[in-house]
Amino acid sequence: MSVHDAKAATVGGMTVRRALPRRGLRTVGAWCFVDHMGPEKITPTQGLDVGPHPHTGLHTATWLLDGAILHTDSLGSEQLIRPGQLNLMTAGHGIAHAEEASRTPGTLQGIQLWIAQPEEARNGPSAFAHHAQLPVLDLTHGQGTVLVGEFAGASSPACVDTAILGVDADLRRGTSVWELRPDFEYAVYCASGAAAIGTAAIGGEVVREGQLLELGSGRSEVTVDVPDGARLLLLGGEPFPEPLFMWWNFVVRSREEAIAATSAWDNYGDSERFGRVHTAIAPIPAPRI
Ligand code: MN
Repeated sequence: MSVHDAKAATVGGMTVRRALPRRGLRTVGAWCFVDHMGPEKITPTQGLDVGPHPHTGLHTATWLLDGAILHTDSLGSEQLIRPGQLNLMTAGHGIAHAEEASRTPGTLQGIQLWIAQPEEARNGPSAFAHHAQLPVLDLTHGQGTVLVGEFAGASSPACVDTAILGVDADLRRGTSVWELRPDFEYAVYCASGAAAIGTAAIGGEVVREGQLLELGSGRSEVTVDVPDGARLLLLGGEPFPEPLFMWWNFVVRSREEAIAATSAWDNYGDSERFGRVHTAIAPIPAPRI
């Protein structure tokens, strides 16, 4: 077990805390990217507005703790997302999307996650799904929402390509024991508060706001001890066997594939690969590779 601080990054004019990928930890199951955005005040002129940009070879999972974001994409989807709901976008060979928060002023806080697609799906069709209701579990000293996968007998309706798990746990003071799968590797991101996570025998490792606790695999349960409230995101999955090449918004396998995706995006408007997003905000140019 080891604890790591998330690193600051800038996305759409907003400072975010990036917990994954990090040096020495590229993936947890197929989870390959975790950005904690906010909490930050959004006004009509200032906040998260991310113009059209492309993705390949991944699902994006958007989960809000506060506020609202309008999602539009090149499939024609237009969807406002609020806390308790999940947006799951599948890129496959290519999709483009935009995200706007400035139309809904207030406090914005959320977690943007990417899930790598395996070889057999990563060049497949794109898709978008909005899940307005997800299973909510009683965790004794709080509740857990199953975003993806299955936890404590409850299954999320979200469809992904590999066996993974994502649970948002909103906890008060108290202790609980979470059942884990020994064949999964796990990590816990702390969005607020603090918790000691470990086993009754050896005690817990403390994870605080803005930190990721790497749990590894081979565990059948873990004890979660919260002294004074915590918001935790449990991520897990079967170790992802394929080495990834992540460049900008592309999850591919080689530099050559990243160059091909970049030049397709350079032709935004003419590119069949990524299509067009119907939004007033300007597209984001790809950085040079
Ligand atoms: Mn995106």
